[in-house]
Amino acid sequence: MLIYIDMDDVLCDYTAAFHQAINLTPSIAFPQSQYGFYANLTPIIGAVESVNALIKSEKFDPYILTAPSNRNPLSYTEKRVWIEKYFGIAFTEKLIICANKSLLKGDILIDDQLSGRGQDKFDGQLIHFGSTAYPNWKSIMNTLTQHNFS
Ligand SMILES: [Mg+2]
Repeated sequence: MLIYIDMDDVLCDYTAAFHQAINLTPSIAFPQSQYGFYANLTPIIGAVESVNALIKSEKFDPYILTAPSNRNPLSYTEKRVWIEKYFGIAFTEKLIICANKSLLKGDILIDDQLSGRGQDKFDGQLIHFGSTAYPNWKSIMNTLTQHNFS
């Protein structure tokens, strides 16, 4: 089962880092444009264990599907660095950086946003991370592993 996983606010805590940076240096309007911003994001609780479980499983074929930051050309490299840090170098081949998530065929997309990057036109199942049904990784993994997801 082909499964795409968003990065910002699904795997890594973009929002917390953004607000922390704004509080520390309010004069910087776009903290995500700074060197090291994407490479140093904190993982969302349960994300690393869950994706590693999906990587090991025979049922799922996970890819990371994330939009680039148009404020930071380093985001391409730093997202790659982040993936290697938490999932190993082999999995970095499965990082897809693309602004339109409907371009890819697949079974499942896990994303915290329902639209804006083509999520609403994705032809598979959209799992809305952070929603009432899927508030965290535990709830997603319960659904993916304990039920016949279709
Ligand atoms: Mg996101």
